Amino acid sequence: MAGVTSSETVQNAYGYGLFTGGLGVHYGARRVGATVIPISGGNTQRQLMMLKDFGPEVLTCTPSYCLYLAEAGREQGMDFSKLPLRVGIFGAEPWSESMREEIETSMHVLALDIYGLTEIIGPGVAQECTAKGGLHVAEDHFYPEVIDPESGVPLPPGQKGELVFTTLTKEGTPLIRYRTRDVTYLDPSPCRCGRTAVRMNRLLGRTDDMLIIRGVNVFPSQIEEVLLRVEGVEPHYQLVVERAAHLDTLEVQVEMNERIFSDKIRDLESFEKEIALELASALGIQAAVRLVEPKSIPRSEGKAKRVVDRRTI
Ligand SMILES: [Zn+2]
Repeated sequence: MAGVTSSETVQNAYGYGLFTGGLGVHYGARRVGATVIPISGGNTQRQLMMLKDFGPEVLTCTPSYCLYLAEAGREQGMDFSKLPLRVGIFGAEPWSESMREEIETSMHVLALDIYGLTEIIGPGVAQECTAKGGLHVAEDHFYPEVIDPESGVPLPPGQKGELVFTTLTKEGTPLIRYRTRDVTYLDPSPCRCGRTAVRMNRLLGRTDDMLIIRGVNVFPSQIEEVLLRVEGVEPHYQLVVERAAHLDTLEVQVEMNERIFSDKIRDLESFEKEIALELASALGIQAAVRLVEPKSIPRSEGKAKRVVDRRTI
């Protein structure tokens, strides 16, 4: 869909390991015969060095990380317009048209969206073509539907609802009408590129409380589970998600109990670090922990407001 050919090189900056992004894109790129730089996520200096030295035509990573790379490169006086880089395939987190414009201007690339989920196959369930009018679903492998999340009734094209997939060719763990919790709508109208596969709009949100932080799926319940194991903290917490310099940050505010709070000897800073370490091993991402005074987190009579998401994308 992005027009990648066997004579091109792909710098794959999705994480390798248990995350499907890295290996999924790797195998896909190999399938079209492209050369892959399996650089994985992070290590910004090395990413920039590879972009200069190997001159890949294709970059794959999360859109927020791409913006971070652009900024880091700019600070070092890198001129992306001089690089052979021509297209970026960005996914694993929701992004917007304004982010696309920012990426395209700062990196001098065509920025395309890719969608996938581990339960179905990982990346490549749907991908945007160069017409940039939605993501073509690989319909010969995955049958998409959009349903009303409350009633479960299928919705007509153009109507927003929860995306549901049935796998048609998957062996081992086939899935029938798997509810993704992702909100979008389908568009079966002809695409300018000539492909006939139905298109899904870029993601518009979630029907549950899952957060996507730096490409990693995080549920507040996972954080709660860790906190409940730590002695001295109350089960009252709030998650504050922000985006600073194009990278997502997560701060976990936790209430101490009265005993810990009045214990002047206890080093609160090392206590915070201890909890942060526990969270990092459970979530797979770094979170800052801030201990707050007992009873300082707002109580709710209904559903607790656990998440404050200040990101604008
Ligand atoms: Zn198309």
